[in-house]
Amino acid sequence: MRLYIGEVKKSVGRTFHDIEEENFPSLSWEGKKLPFAQPVRVDALLTNCGSEILVKGVVDTALVMSCSRCLEPSIQEIKAVFYLEYRNLSRIHRLSDIEAEASESDEVGYFWEEDNYVEVTREVEEVIFINLPMKPLCSPDCRGLCPVCGANRNKEKCFCEEAIDPRLAVLKNWAKENL
Ligand SMILES: [Zn+2]
Ligand SMILES: [Zn+2]
Repeated sequence: MRLYIGEVKKSVGRTFHDIEEENFPSLSWEGKKLPFAQPVRVDALLTNCGSEILVKGVVDTALVMSCSRCLEPSIQEIKAVFYLEYRNLSRIHRLSDIEAEASESDEVGYFWEEDNYVEVTREVEEVIFINLPMKPLCSPDCRGLCPVCGANRNKEKCFCEEAIDPRLAVLKNWAKENL
C-alpha cells in the first residue's frame, strides 16, 4: 500500500487527504494464519511540515481469528489510529545526519524530492498486529466449550453442567427447598 505525497509535498503547510483500500495477504501470528475478512482501508491525513511529512492515519479492517472460548472462527474488527513521519532525503545533506536520525527512531521513513508515493504496507501491518485482540470472542456472551465433554455450548446442550461446580447443585437444592 502506498500513500500519495505528490500533492502535499508542493508547499509547507499543505495538507492532503488520502484514502486507500487494498487486499492484504494473511498475517502469520503465533504459528497461525489470520486471513483478512475484508480489504484494509487506510484514511490518512498528510501534512507538509517542511523537511518532513507527518501522517495521521486510521486503519480499518477485519480478520478471521478463533474465538478464545469456543474456538470457532470469528470476525474481529480492527480500527486504530497511527502516526508516521517521512523525512525529505533531498534536504538532508550529510550521510551522518541520516544515520543520526535513523538511530533516533525506526518509525521514521524517508522520501526523495521527486517521489510521489511512500510505501506503508509494513507499517500498516504492524499497526494491525499491535491492535489484534488478546482474547478474541465470537460474541460477548459466547458460552464456550464444556470443560467436561468439550461440547460447544453455543450449539448444543450437554448434561455435564451440574457436575462442573458442586456449589451450583447446593444452590439448586436450596432453591427447591425454600421456594
Ligand atoms: Zn465463541
Ligand atoms: Zn458437557
